[in-house]
Amino acid sequence: MAKSKVYFMDAHSESTETSLVAKMVTVFDAAGLDKMIKPNDVVAIKIHCGEWNNTAYLRPVYARALADRIKELGGRPFVCDTTTSTYSPWGSRSTELDILLTAERNGYTSATLGCPFICADGFIGTSDFRVDIPEGYLLKEAYVAQAIAAADVLIALTHFKGHSMGVIGGALKNLGIGAQSKRGKLNVHMGGHPNYGLGAAGVFHPEAFKGKANTPDWELLEDCCPFNLYHINDNDEIEWEREKCTTCLGCFGVMGPRGIVDIPPVNFDAVDVAIADACLGVEKVVGRDKVGYINMALDISPRCDCANHADVPIVPHLGVFASTDAVAIDMACVNKARESEGIPGSAAEVMEAHHPGDAKFEAAAATFHGQSEVASINTGHEIGLGSRDYELVNVEPGPADRFRFPYDKRTSRPRFMERFEKFQPFPYDRHDGKGFARNDEVDLEAMKRHYELSTNGHVEVEIEELQPADDN
Ligand code: SF4
Repeated sequence: MAKSKVYFMDAHSESTETSLVAKMVTVFDAAGLDKMIKPNDVVAIKIHCGEWNNTAYLRPVYARALADRIKELGGRPFVCDTTTSTYSPWGSRSTELDILLTAERNGYTSATLGCPFICADGFIGTSDFRVDIPEGYLLKEAYVAQAIAAADVLIALTHFKGHSMGVIGGALKNLGIGAQSKRGKLNVHMGGHPNYGLGAAGVFHPEAFKGKANTPDWELLEDCCPFNLYHINDNDEIEWEREKCTTCLGCFGVMGPRGIVDIPPVNFDAVDVAIADACLGVEKVVGRDKVGYINMALDISPRCDCANHADVPIVPHLGVFASTDAVAIDMACVNKARESEGIPGSAAEVMEAHHPGDAKFEAAAATFHGQSEVASINTGHEIGLGSRDYELVNVEPGPADRFRFPYDKRTSRPRFMERFEKFQPFPYDRHDGKGFARNDEVDLEAMKRHYELSTNGHVEVEIEELQPADDN
């Protein structure tokens, strides 16, 4: 397969045209993604709106600027995300209602985006389009979120970061999980799979349940499963209808830490492979030449935006990437992260994988030792989704004019002179024309000095440990 091109600008910014927003639009055009869009095309911009209290997700201004560019091209953009599986008993994006509330709190609204924000797979997550993928390495079908399947063009605007299951959360995962309906996610997660599903491969330890009397929150053990597969029977024993398990992972954080069900590493390995298959499914539905990718490698947390927190980034901002190849763009980001120094205090340093050359996501993001940060990439290469052999094309900044405030292009005098004459912000008539009451001269240098502190520079006080708020 020929080398794919990945268009790249680094993360340094010191001017209008080198702002990260400007760079995103610049690489979008340089990669030819603008050429995909014809007048009146409905264009889906797939983002991750961030879980409740996550803070590393992409700022909505990037989606806004992209939507504005698509409108300039005559397209009709909408920004979208999809319902999640119930990854925890308290997920915030599992229905359309919940994802809209979470997205709004995180800043993704029609008002901020200048176009609609929609949940692409319906109220529960069963609005989808089934597609055969005979080329798939593991999956043979995918269920693509309806609004994405119905779009003329799809732009995956991805926050590139780590992921506890996918190891990396890049372009492949944005579509291989994020563009699948809830039904599609259960498929990718290996629900019902005879070897890789949780029901088949998970190890059940009923003896780890010590009875209701010794388990104050025992009801959670039954309530964490939306398919009602865990039961405490009349003998005070826990039972699991594992043959019906959908691998929705709703019990992941409940049963795992208690040692009742061991989550099998093989499930995670299989999902990493299936992500690439499902991404191919999306391209087949929308059109192989109608899907473009932008990776914003910024705030590179080891955890995905689907976590309800965000850790210290493991590497500095890497830059802005664009391509028509999901495999190549993720490979380029992984390589950049690998070349980079890790950030002090991050999980990369804790895991002693902060040196250039270290596989940082495998060390700092993966759940299990042995998971690979290139499994989805290799699968995508194998099945013809894209190529891990790429050419990195450095893109020069565009003209500053293009990225200035668009609503009034006039310079300051024509914009403000008459207004300032009417509403004068500087009181020329006070203090002999100096305007304000101030000392004429002070010792500015004195305020710039570092002084020895009387203690070692800080005071430590002990406070009583705060109790977390009651989840109920
Ligand atoms: S038992 Fe299976 S279906 Fe039930 S919460 Fe766990 S993963 Fe989901």
